[in-house]
Amino acid sequence: MIFCSLYSGSSGNSMFVATDKVKILIDAGLPGKKIDEALKQINQEPTNLNGIFITHEHSDHVKGVGVLSRKYDIPIYANGDTWAAMESSIGKIKEHNIKVIDKRSITQIEDMSIKAFNIPHDAVSPTGYTISDSKKSISVATDFGTFTREIYDNIKDSEVILLESNHDVNMLKFGPYPYTLKRRILSEIGHLSNDDCGNAIVELVKCDSNKKVILGHLSNTNNQPDLAYQTVLNVLNENGIKQQKDIILTMANRHNPSSYIEI
Ligand SMILES: [Zn+2]
Ligand SMILES: [Zn+2]
Repeated sequence: MIFCSLYSGSSGNSMFVATDKVKILIDAGLPGKKIDEALKQINQEPTNLNGIFITHEHSDHVKGVGVLSRKYDIPIYANGDTWAAMESSIGKIKEHNIKVIDKRSITQIEDMSIKAFNIPHDAVSPTGYTISDSKKSISVATDFGTFTREIYDNIKDSEVILLESNHDVNMLKFGPYPYTLKRRILSEIGHLSNDDCGNAIVELVKCDSNKKVILGHLSNTNNQPDLAYQTVLNVLNENGIKQQKDIILTMANRHNPSSYIEI
């Protein structure tokens, strides 16, 4: 399988995942042209995409979805609530490209299975995904305020995991955001802090080491890549987990493709 984060962060998210036979995007939260550019950079053609799977309706996850679907005739997969919530913002989609999936469902496309699981976030029905061929699996989980048992159970066996490391709690608390927005981000249905991300990874490594974990969806205002990386690393070190030995920790870039991984 192949995984590549095309863009990651509060300014837009899209990830490319492929098996031998199937190629998909998880989210397309930037203008279609930007997604085109990123795919070109990793030598992939948008015309070959078998689908775009949507995590939730926030614009940093759906901005380019409608354009890409219309331009390249790509099916869009989302649960019914998410379809209802994003329909007006993504524009008209051809009937045959509207794929409504159930919550917590498994969608099988040739040799790829895509399992949806619930995440706690302030959207109508937000999900993470675990994508597998018959041997390996890759999980993506961003935009959640609490690392729940459901998330843990769904991602713990994956070889590659992109996990949210959204903000530094102090940068957020003392930063420029209005009080209500700070409260929303810090809430159980907001976003995961660097510290909480580190603690989540500790739980995951306890279950199985040798994982590749990619930190993503960093806030532009309340985080910095070095700070996120170092904070998570400190939490891992405090728990006796060694980078490169027990885990391979990397960062997903905000503005260009990164973490191209073949497993
Ligand atoms: Zn987001
Ligand atoms: Zn969101």
